[in-house]
Amino acid sequence: MSEEKSLNFIEEIIENDLAEGKYSSIVTRFPPEPNGYLHMGHASSICLNFGLTKKYKGYTNLRFDDTNPTTEETEYVDSIKEDIQWLGFEWKNEYFASDYFEQLYTYAVTLINKGLAYVDDSTADQIAIEKGTPTHAGVSNKFRDRSIEENLLLFAEMRAGKYADGEKVLRAKIDLASSNMLMRDPILYRIKHAHHHRTGDAWCIYPMYDFAHGQSDSIENITHSICTLEFIPHRELYDWLIEKLEIYPSHQYEFARRNMNYTVMSKRKLLQLVNEGFVKSWDDPRMPTISGMRRRGYTPESIRDFCDRIGIAKRENLVDIGLLEFCVREHLNKIAQRRMVVFDPLKVTITNYDGSETITSENNPEDENGGQREVVFSREIYIEREDFMENPPKKYFRLAIGQIVRLKSAFIIQCDEIVKDAEGNILELKCSYFPNSKSGNDTSGLAVKSTIHWVAIDAAVPIEINLYDRLFKVENVDSEAGDFKDHINENSLHILTTAYAEKSLLEANTTERFQFLRKGYFCLDKESTADKLVFNRTVTLKDSWAKEKAR
Ligand code: ATP
Ligand code: MG
Repeated sequence: MSEEKSLNFIEEIIENDLAEGKYSSIVTRFPPEPNGYLHMGHASSICLNFGLTKKYKGYTNLRFDDTNPTTEETEYVDSIKEDIQWLGFEWKNEYFASDYFEQLYTYAVTLINKGLAYVDDSTADQIAIEKGTPTHAGVSNKFRDRSIEENLLLFAEMRAGKYADGEKVLRAKIDLASSNMLMRDPILYRIKHAHHHRTGDAWCIYPMYDFAHGQSDSIENITHSICTLEFIPHRELYDWLIEKLEIYPSHQYEFARRNMNYTVMSKRKLLQLVNEGFVKSWDDPRMPTISGMRRRGYTPESIRDFCDRIGIAKRENLVDIGLLEFCVREHLNKIAQRRMVVFDPLKVTITNYDGSETITSENNPEDENGGQREVVFSREIYIEREDFMENPPKKYFRLAIGQIVRLKSAFIIQCDEIVKDAEGNILELKCSYFPNSKSGNDTSGLAVKSTIHWVAIDAAVPIEINLYDRLFKVENVDSEAGDFKDHINENSLHILTTAYAEKSLLEANTTERFQFLRKGYFCLDKESTADKLVFNRTVTLKDSWAKEKAR
C-alpha cells in the first residue's frame, strides 16, 4: 500500500532537502533512554526513523540517551537492541550519549569562553523564582556577571568534585525576557555525585537533556532529528546551541506521540504494572511492549504494517488497538499453520468404526505451498461441547440427535444417542460415520451444512491455553480521573486447562504461528515445557474492527 500513499510531512521535508541538494543522503537516529522496555509508541518511532533511511539513501544510528546517571540499566540496553532487530531494522552505529561526555564538557567550555555560559550558585528554588513567568520577564542575579575566568575556574572545580549536589549549576546566558521560558538561561550542567552505568565515577557533573541531545545529533551528523511534540519549545534552544557552538547543523522535527486505547504507553507506568504484580513481567503478553507483543505472537510484519497504516501525525490522538489486531490477523491468516484443538471436550464414540487411521489435512488453505500434515483419526474422539445441542433451535446445523456434520478433513458423522450420568450431565455421544464420505473422496452425496474440528482421544495432547483480554477496562486510560491502575481489567488473563490438541503440536516452537481452527491465532509460550505445553492466544478470529469500519 505504501507505493500509492501520499508523502507524510517529514517525507516531504526530506524530498525537498534532497531536491535542493541540501543533503545527498540522510542520517536519522533512534535515541531511547535505557530505563525500560520499548513499547508500541517506540515501535512507531523506530519504523519512522529506520523507514526513512531505508526509503531515502542513508542510515540510522541507535543512540542510548544515558545522560541521567541514576536510572539506566544494562538489562534495558539489551532488550532494546533485541526488540529493534526483531522488528526487522539494523542500525549503522551503536552509540551512547555518555560516550560524548568529554566532548560535551569541551562544548560547555567553549560557551563560557564566548561569554555565553556562567556558573550560578543559586538554589533551584531561587532560579525558578528569578526566571519569572510567561507574563513576567525574569531577573538577573549577581552570578550572571561573573567573568569568563571565574566561570572557567568554577566549572573546572565543579567537574573536579569540589561542590555538593545542587550547590552550583552551569547555565547558558541567553535571554531572561524571552517569551520561550526554555530560553531564559537554561541549565546546561548540574552536579550529581552518582555512579553511571558506563562511565562509573568518572563524572560528578552531568549535562541536561537539552545540552546533550542536539549536540549528540550534531556529533553524529544527524540530518533529521525526529522527536515528539513536547520538544517543540526546545527547538529554539536546540538551534541556538548548535549556532553558538558552530557545529554540524542537525535539524529537529516533531511528530505526535502515539497512544493506543485500552492501554498505557509510558515506561514509568509500565514499570509500575510489573513491580506491583499486575502483570508478570515486561514481556507479559498483555503488555503493549514490543517484547510482550512478540511473546503474544504478534509478528514484526504486522507491527510494521500497523505503523505504516497509522502513519505520523502532527496532533495527538488515540489509535484503535483494534486496528493493530486487524493487522495481526491479516498477516497470521497468511502464515499460520492450521491445527485442531478442542477447548471444552465432549467424547464421541463412532460406533461403526474400529481402530484408527492416519488422514491428511492442509496446513494453510491461504498458502499453496503450505503442505499437509498427518492427523490420527480413531473410534473415540473429542469434539467441542458447544458443537452439540440436545434441544437445537431451528437452523442449528451442528450436531444434534439425527443431524450430520463433517469432521474436518475426515468423515461425516451422524449423532445417534446421548449418554448421560445419573445427574443428567452429558458424558458422551454415540455417533455413526459414513464410510464413503471421506474428505477429498466423498461419494456419499450427503449435503452437510457445517464442519467441526475434533481430536482423536488416543492421540490427543493436553495443553494449557492463556486467553487474553484488554489490560484496561476503559478506552482512554490516561484521561480518567484517579490512579490509572484503578482501571485495570482484573480478568485480562483466563487460563484454560481443559484443552486437547492434535499430536503435531508437540513439535511446536515459539517462532511458529498457529490458527487453532475456529478458535483464533495462537503461539507457544516461551515458558512452555515438554511436560506442560502452554499456548498464548495472540488474537481471536473475529474481525470486529473491519466490520465496524464497514458499517
Ligand atoms: P516514555 O514516556 O514511555 O518513557 P520516552 O519518550 O521518555 O517515553 P525515550 O526512551 O526517551 O522514551 O524514547 C525514545 C524515542 O521514542 C524518542 O525519540 C521518543 O520521542 C520516541 N517515543 C517514545 N514514546 C513514543 C510514543 N508514544 N509515540 C511515538 N514515539 C515515541
Ligand atoms: Mg524519556
